[in-house]
Amino acid sequence: MTSTLFTGITELVTNDGMLEGADHSEHLGLLREAAVIVADGLIEWVGRAAGAPAADQRREVGGNAVIPGFVDSHSHLVFAGDRSQEFAARMTGVRYDGGGIATSVDATRAATDDQLYVLVAIRVAEMRAQGTTTVEIKSGYGLNVQDEARSLRIARSFTNETTFLGAHVVPPEFAGRRSEYVDLVTGEMLTNCAPHARWIDVFCEPHSAHAFTEDEAKVVLSAGRDAGLGLRVHGNQLGHGPGARLAVEMGAASVDHCTFLTDQDVEQLAAASESTVATLLPGVEFSTRSPYPDGRRLVDAGVSIALATDCNPGTCYSSSIPFVLALAVREMNLTPAEALRAVTAGGAKALQRNDIGVVRVGNRADLAVLDAPSYLHLFYRPGVPIARALDPGGRHGR
Ligand SMILES: [Zn+2]
Repeated sequence: MTSTLFTGITELVTNDGMLEGADHSEHLGLLREAAVIVADGLIEWVGRAAGAPAADQRREVGGNAVIPGFVDSHSHLVFAGDRSQEFAARMTGVRYDGGGIATSVDATRAATDDQLYVLVAIRVAEMRAQGTTTVEIKSGYGLNVQDEARSLRIARSFTNETTFLGAHVVPPEFAGRRSEYVDLVTGEMLTNCAPHARWIDVFCEPHSAHAFTEDEAKVVLSAGRDAGLGLRVHGNQLGHGPGARLAVEMGAASVDHCTFLTDQDVEQLAAASESTVATLLPGVEFSTRSPYPDGRRLVDAGVSIALATDCNPGTCYSSSIPFVLALAVREMNLTPAEALRAVTAGGAKALQRNDIGVVRVGNRADLAVLDAPSYLHLFYRPGVPIARALDPGGRHGR
């Protein structure tokens, strides 16, 4: 086992509130002139460079900042096809209602396994090149037993954080037969998908005729829980609705979107801040020209938040966490430190992971390096590709 000392780190964001000698004023556990020792993919030592013990090899980070790798806790990377025309139409005023998903379903079903695998590989590489070291990937463009199961099988070859989203929308062939589709999702489809999934998710949205009602969502989530899966919910995206309340009541790890929340929703989420994370996906509001979720209100109320891309072919075809960070600070009034925590420790919490999101001894060495002396440059230099995942083996080139 070779240990590698990463040194020349001007600023290390650890998110470790207990780290001695760190600046805790912004709750980032910030260490200046720092070093990290990595061995076997795990963090072996963290501290000031001046006090670093010896390691087998040494890598200079070159006067740059190092942060926990981004945890993108919400994405839909398994799809084929292209919906750029739909985006263009939206920019001239056409409203999003969830109906375009069927276009991606047709293209995904028509793709071969190899084609889908290559598409996901390209998207995961794109994320890594922008600093993301953990990604959650949902199914949801197969919407039949065979294509949902293969979507998850393919996703599994890239991440353990796979989510069964057979309840994305009711596919066109089940129009007028919603309850039959829910039976399929909670029956044969679940049986075939659960072995490849850690989570189950449902698009609970009364404002879309294509999505699922509260009662249907409850049935889907209960069946998933019985099959041993953790719970996630798409909720409160297009208008006020039951998603956030349902997520809290059922102990879901996360309710995602949270664009429209009542005061009562916010109170419930704050009371459940240890168990349920509100995941905000502002790239969607950007790409659908919609009002942003009120991140400031949630943080001030004591809600646990995460930020993620929701990378998907319809409402946000961006794999970029730095883009999400820029939106969160500029459009949602989060501080840079709050936004950075939400895409690192916040994303880890939304996935109920203790081994990532915080740079501490024993955790995975999932780090990102910035071509900049401080994490503030992520916000100060929007659109500039300064973040990338750090190879724990020692290389840190592109
Ligand atoms: Zn989504």
